[in-house]
Amino acid sequence: MARIPHVIAGEKVMDAARTQAVFNPATGEAQHELSIASAETVEQAIAAAAAALPAWRSTSLTKRADVFFNLRQLLKQRTPELAAIVTSEHGKVLSDAAGEIARGLENVEFAAGLLHLLKGERDEQVSTGVDVHSVKQPVGVVAAITPFNFPVMVPLWMIASAIACGNTVVLKPSERDPSASVFIADLFREAGLPDGVLNVVHGDKVADDTLLDSPAVKAVSFVGSTPIAKYIYERAAANGKRVQALGGAKNHMIVMPDADLDMSADAAVSAAYGSAGERCMAVSVVVAVGEIGDVLVAKIKERMEKLVIGDGTDPASEMGPLITAEARDRVESYVAGAAAEGATVVVDGREAKFEGDGFFTGVSLIDHVQTGSKVYRDEIFGPVLAVVRVDTYDEGVTLINEHQFGNGTAIFTRDGGLARQFEFEVEAGMVGINVPIPVPVGSFSFGGWKDSLFGDSHIYGPESIHFYTRSKVITTRWPNPDQSKVDLGFPSNS
Ligand code: NAD
Repeated sequence: MARIPHVIAGEKVMDAARTQAVFNPATGEAQHELSIASAETVEQAIAAAAAALPAWRSTSLTKRADVFFNLRQLLKQRTPELAAIVTSEHGKVLSDAAGEIARGLENVEFAAGLLHLLKGERDEQVSTGVDVHSVKQPVGVVAAITPFNFPVMVPLWMIASAIACGNTVVLKPSERDPSASVFIADLFREAGLPDGVLNVVHGDKVADDTLLDSPAVKAVSFVGSTPIAKYIYERAAANGKRVQALGGAKNHMIVMPDADLDMSADAAVSAAYGSAGERCMAVSVVVAVGEIGDVLVAKIKERMEKLVIGDGTDPASEMGPLITAEARDRVESYVAGAAAEGATVVVDGREAKFEGDGFFTGVSLIDHVQTGSKVYRDEIFGPVLAVVRVDTYDEGVTLINEHQFGNGTAIFTRDGGLARQFEFEVEAGMVGINVPIPVPVGSFSFGGWKDSLFGDSHIYGPESIHFYTRSKVITTRWPNPDQSKVDLGFPSNS
């Protein structure tokens, strides 16, 4: 089995004391051995980042921008290779893996505009002879802790802007699919990033706690499940760091009686089951308003039957396995318990049959879901779509607003006025109007509301520049030129 190393100050380093297997979810086989970092190893990575900081923050903006222009090219050229790595450890189909690389590229392209992004402001003559200007300076060493479900895109959400702003980084990716981060670190190096600016350590709570407690780490970006996001937020904040911690989701899609039901069913199927539902922006609840419920459920079911589930490397596959056997069992337990909670299981994914030992489950559709049930309340994070029936739009929007999570949401309707009303009153950070997965483009920022985000800065885009920089304001007075003339003893016409 190949061993996956940490990357510290440009060196590939192994921790032999603790290792963990990395599986291929499509076959169920352990394929790599991962070094799990000790606290000492993480301290070394933090020290490497701290040592690289003075030179990197002094590097000219044009040289910094060059790294991102080079990286963009490299990422484009090497997309098939990187996508194959993602599929082999995450399980998502190759087209999905390439899709997440394309979304991550947006963050690299945004970072390449750093000359514009890091501009300060200036006010001349705020008082007689006095000017004020501001600059944006890096915060220092940044910790980036990422989840398994987007092993390329989510690290790029963080590290592109953090590095562009002149910070140095310790990235701690998910231990389930860690190879993509090592690949990205290698590409950054090839693009011209000096050693030590981006370090990668693999591990678990030991690594994360070391990052959260280190006085040298000044900012923490985290994406993962809500309980861990809350923990990270509290511990990092208690240690005086700035922190943004993005958590879980339960995204609702309201379908109004006037909506195009074929378009809505297509959207529900791709947004609920794409990437096996392991997306924080996946649609997990369809709210059917009025009389359309039966027709909509029938249309969704019809489309589900055509979905091809299989190994992500097979071009015919539209959905791959879940990340682990435990994740599959957990997802299936919700389907198993749904009927007892008063719902109707229309399609039971547990009935799908797969050969081999991969972590596959079929797609499930659960109708008449009760809002007090676990299927409705919990983030299932798998290919399970719940349908809740309501009589009116108001009931639907109230459901969304009362839910614990507020990551993304969508409305399907032909009524512009209603869509505007939804945009105005819905309690979620990202809203789609006839768009099921409204992930903002890289020039905007990404973030949810309520228990989907702890902290006040959204991730990537303009808010990332604010998060990864400290503002300094300089007030200046220079002696009046007339008063400062010095008599050097030369004749006045010399
Ligand atoms: P997770 O919370 O289990 O793990 C995320 C990271 O935290 C990993 O690096 C993991 O090693 C670390 N971690 C796990 N337990 C820890 C602990 N006790 N102490 C310290 N660190 C710990 O999440 P996951 O299963 O990898 O990812 C799926 C979750 O991420 C879902 O809940 C999904 O909604 C969420 N997610 C959210 C967004 C968003 O933008 N809001 C994006 C992607 C994923």
